[in-house]
Amino acid sequence: MHNEYHSLRQQMVETLIERGIRDRRVIEAFRKVPRHLFLDEALWPQAYSDHPLPIGERQTISQPYIVALMTEALGLTGMDKVLEIGTGSGYQTAILAELADCVYSIERLPDLAKRARKVLDQLKYTNVVIRIGDGTAGWRDESPFAGIIVTAAAPGAPDPLMQQLEIGGKLVIPIGDEQFQDLLVYFKEGEDRYREQNLGGCRFVKLIGEHGWKT
Ligand code: SAM
Repeated sequence: MHNEYHSLRQQMVETLIERGIRDRRVIEAFRKVPRHLFLDEALWPQAYSDHPLPIGERQTISQPYIVALMTEALGLTGMDKVLEIGTGSGYQTAILAELADCVYSIERLPDLAKRARKVLDQLKYTNVVIRIGDGTAGWRDESPFAGIIVTAAAPGAPDPLMQQLEIGGKLVIPIGDEQFQDLLVYFKEGEDRYREQNLGGCRFVKLIGEHGWKT
């Protein structure tokens, strides 16, 4: 059965390449991480299609292409300290753990955080620290970060996250209204200087917190 998922995973990666994902390290991470294990067993047969899927608590695991696009945008080297807001299933966290030195991840819903921790432990990701709480305030004690990735839709870039980026670092975040967003990359060029790039439209669940949506 696991062989079957292995070949479905390689097919998923071919789709990512056809859609324009180029970073070789990102592609290798997607070849390796078993996405099905981050889902309920009933959803395993759908795990390698290019779609978001439910993970409980009215939340979703993001579509593989969007996970790849966001990860590629971070331009990780293997030496980086990364902050993820919205652990969800932990799948994106595992991809980041393959590509960075260490990953700090914040999830507001305790049950999701605990489930993600369990799967990441089973897969022996020892370079991941997960915290339950409001990620819109960031993780000041561990800042600055080379990359910050927000996997939920925000009305604007949260100030604390901008501050906790190192100079030369990148924040990848979907910004827009509650229905549709643009996937934005902010390059921190100086203390208060950012360059912005728009990677295109996307749809995420809401980022709920002090510096996000209120409910
Ligand atoms: N990256 C995840 C994955 O691979 O499964 C998908 C994340 S899901 C689209 C968005 C997650 O963000 C949800 O689990 C939600 O509970 C979480 N979230 C929303 N607002 C948050 C906040 N202020 N702090 C931390 N997590 C938050």
